[in-house]
Amino acid sequence: MLKTHNCGELRSGDAGKEVTLAGWLNRRRDHGGLIFLDLRDRFGITQVTVNSEEQPAAHRNASEARGEFVVQVKGRVHQRPPGFENPDLATGMIEVLADEVTILTESRTPPFYLSGSKSDDVDEALRLKYRYLDLRRPRLAQNIILRHNIVRYIREFFYAHDFLEIETPILLKSTPEGARDFVVPSRVHAGKFYALPQSPQQMKQLLMVAGMERYFQIARCFRDEDLRADRQPEFTQLDLEMSFVDVDDIRALIEALMIDLSGKVSPKRIQQLPFPVISYDEAMEKYGIDRPDLRFGCQLFNITDAVAESGFSVFQNAATSGGQVKGVVYPGGADLSRRELDGFGDFVKQYGAKGAAWIGVTGAPGADGRYPADALRSQITKFLSQAEIDAIMQRSGAKQGDLILIVADKSSVVAQSLANLRLDIGKRANLIDPDVLAFCWVLDFPLLEYNEDEKRWEAVHHPFTSAKDEDWDRLESHPGEVKAKAYDIILNGWEIGGGSIRIHRSDNQARLFKRIGLSEEEIDARFGHIIEAFQYGAPPHGGIALGIERVVALYADAPSIRDVMAFPKTAMGTDLMLEAPSPVDERQLAELHIRVREEDLKKLTES
Ligand code: ASP
Repeated sequence: MLKTHNCGELRSGDAGKEVTLAGWLNRRRDHGGLIFLDLRDRFGITQVTVNSEEQPAAHRNASEARGEFVVQVKGRVHQRPPGFENPDLATGMIEVLADEVTILTESRTPPFYLSGSKSDDVDEALRLKYRYLDLRRPRLAQNIILRHNIVRYIREFFYAHDFLEIETPILLKSTPEGARDFVVPSRVHAGKFYALPQSPQQMKQLLMVAGMERYFQIARCFRDEDLRADRQPEFTQLDLEMSFVDVDDIRALIEALMIDLSGKVSPKRIQQLPFPVISYDEAMEKYGIDRPDLRFGCQLFNITDAVAESGFSVFQNAATSGGQVKGVVYPGGADLSRRELDGFGDFVKQYGAKGAAWIGVTGAPGADGRYPADALRSQITKFLSQAEIDAIMQRSGAKQGDLILIVADKSSVVAQSLANLRLDIGKRANLIDPDVLAFCWVLDFPLLEYNEDEKRWEAVHHPFTSAKDEDWDRLESHPGEVKAKAYDIILNGWEIGGGSIRIHRSDNQARLFKRIGLSEEEIDARFGHIIEAFQYGAPPHGGIALGIERVVALYADAPSIRDVMAFPKTAMGTDLMLEAPSPVDERQLAELHIRVREEDLKKLTES
């Protein structure tokens, strides 16, 4: 070994030991006769002191070393004199007095600072191009280490619960239902293609038919979706499936996993046990979103019925044309400046709303507990009756000093506007406790939703999800009212996982495929294998998948999932280090029986 210890482990108790360290030069301070080298490896940083009088050769080498040179040091551990300790370093009580300093490899000057305050705001594109340098920085390295530990604990948990870890193919068949598939051309079978799995969904269900009973996998998934800031074309899921279970069994298992994991990797406290359970309808009503952040209150309130005859036409129109009038309270916001109040209107415009009405509760209620109009600062109260004001005050629960914000529009616009406004208020009014993990389950999702563009019903989760037993009868007659045996697990407002109890009868599976507009031929071509498999004794089964990147990012407090991936792609799906995707040469294409359509490329570059 080229080192006897790592750079993070030496302590006072090691004083006097002869050691050899090796790592990267984090920083060098030259005090003439004395040179201090901060040596860094994955485990930490150790200060090395080189004295020119005692070790002239070592001193000469040390003076030539530069940032990111790979350096080996032989020397003796020395307790630092009182007053010279560094409490910020785990090794800060000691230093190593060098006898020998050897430069193992030189380094070019890195394109950005890897340590010190200037390392904090380096352009991400540059960091991605030199990812191997970026990963040397402790903050990123710690995320990768945390990810390793989380995956290890997950594996241990499932081994202990009798699960089998089974790999499923990466080269599959294209059966798009949801996102777009990435396809891989076959050389041997001209004109034919494999597809990369969007998830191992069908394979894990077939493993249940095969009698494996408890399966899990840390599975790579690929989705050719339109890219968004925090989306990656490939990502990793904890994927699992169980036979002979119902919704509560999956929930109990995953709850146990998350409690175990949180205890092992996070100093934060779980806000509520058992995890709260909210129906989809309730989540939409109270939070405007199906992944509510429960770290704070500020539930939405609904006054649609109370303003149907309002003198304020914006409310009245929305209430009588099938829309909604709902609001949220900004605690203590009554005397925000006029500019800030107008800012809320601009904020909700991003989500399609025309504006946000505001009412500041500046005065106190009367003896009867009701708020007169002159206790309220607002441009709209003059159009409202006392009964309407009473309804707003009661349903919002606002108190003197609070601000009420109301949006009137189509339900979907109201929901999006207020869900985001609520989060904004949570941040601005400092209502979010950074030290809690607020888990919850969202249940009773609709099974189907109507796709206006394609004029057909489609599965909300995926087409293998079962309807609730009592709802099967209404699949054909009232598809929009059918609820699914589906569940999502939410952490601090992020959906970290979702799953369902599956359809396990071939007749019901065929019914569902027909309901979402597939013809007999399409069903046969794309899903014949699963319909057939279900004819050979499929056990009742269900499962779930959790997004590993999201889970790690939440535990790491990382701003982006890219920060918890070793080699992520940009938001545009490119790898800046490898410069992928890239053209391949003509011969490769010819072997694959593929021709790039130059006319398409021309059109694309022109547009
Ligand atoms: N395959 C689903 C997904 O990737 C999860 C599941 O239903 O188990 O979202």
